[in-house]
Amino acid sequence: MSKRDYYEVLGVERGADTKDIKKAYRRLAQKYHPDRNPDDESSAERFREVSEAYEVLSDSEKRAAYDQFGHAGVDGQAGGFGGGGFGGGAGAGGFSDIFGDVFGDIFGGGGGRRSPHAPQRGSDLRYNLELDLESAVSGTTVDIRVPRHVECDRCDGQGAEPGSSKETCPTCNGHGQVRMQQGFFAVQQTCPTCHGNGVHIKVPCHKCHGEGRVRETRTLSVKIPAGVDTGDRIRLNGEGESGINGGPPGDLYVQVAIKPHHIFQRDGKHLHCDVPINFIDAALGGELEVPTLDGRVKLKIPAETQTGRLFRLRGKGVKPVRGGPPGDLLCKVVVETPVNLNDEQKDLLRQLQESLGGTNSAHHSPKKSGFFDGVKKFFEDMKP
Ligand SMILES: [Zn+2]
Ligand SMILES: [Zn+2]
Repeated sequence: MSKRDYYEVLGVERGADTKDIKKAYRRLAQKYHPDRNPDDESSAERFREVSEAYEVLSDSEKRAAYDQFGHAGVDGQAGGFGGGGFGGGAGAGGFSDIFGDVFGDIFGGGGGRRSPHAPQRGSDLRYNLELDLESAVSGTTVDIRVPRHVECDRCDGQGAEPGSSKETCPTCNGHGQVRMQQGFFAVQQTCPTCHGNGVHIKVPCHKCHGEGRVRETRTLSVKIPAGVDTGDRIRLNGEGESGINGGPPGDLYVQVAIKPHHIFQRDGKHLHCDVPINFIDAALGGELEVPTLDGRVKLKIPAETQTGRLFRLRGKGVKPVRGGPPGDLLCKVVVETPVNLNDEQKDLLRQLQESLGGTNSAHHSPKKSGFFDGVKKFFEDMKP
């Protein structure tokens, strides 16, 4: 479809001055404005045409380009007129914004405005819950205090003081929106009287001040299933913010985080812990008491146990919240060097050292021999 001449569209002479162009545009824009011609596609088309012509002819640079080159001189500058209103580049300061509003509302750029009376679901809420490891493993019930908006019980969420009436907002006739005349543009705005609700409350509810909702802190008892871990969420249906205009409430999500434990580290369903032992027990072997979440258990340490060795206690970990067999407890032996030795004890150690064959003996130190062999090889490889 070829475009009509912009001067022709506005019905002005080629030499018309800015004032005449503006006047012509104003008259035509009011005539074809979508507000005055609802559901009239040809008027809407004319309105767009008129607006496009005005955008070019009211701008001296664009007008000069149009005068010289015709549509080719300004096409691509005059923004897109389809769908959600003007694109960028309508350089006449503030102009495109006003159109954006009008087109956005009338032509449904964003799928249309929601009615102020439509039920809206309440927001979801999140509560961060820190649990100690024992409670998380065994399961527990916790009371949490949740601040949230709930429907006002004095006015049943209506916002009007009981006994007083609610009437359709006289300013907007219940639409929640008003059209304001700004210069020669009609601009749609949220009704300043009713703030978009479409109803006028004569006497606002004393409890919620007309909002229909009040802030309330409720204590909820939350059952925490056994085996939860950091990152798990427990959903409480309908315990979020209350809905608006009779909409359903949102949900409350309890987000679990497990606090660090002074003995155990958790790794999914397995638990880890360090078990310190003295070097004599490590050398001779023995029986140790190790902690588990169900109490102490005996752990047999064989002779010649090296530091870092892991002992697995099957089933002494965590039973997963989603089912399945419990995990294991992995005890890591940490051999400790004795401290605060008296002279007699030091003497005994020296005797032991001598008996073991002197400081260079590797016979009794399985790692040491391998280590020094490795060091020797390392330096030999470095030789040129
Ligand atoms: Zn109320
Ligand atoms: Zn209103």
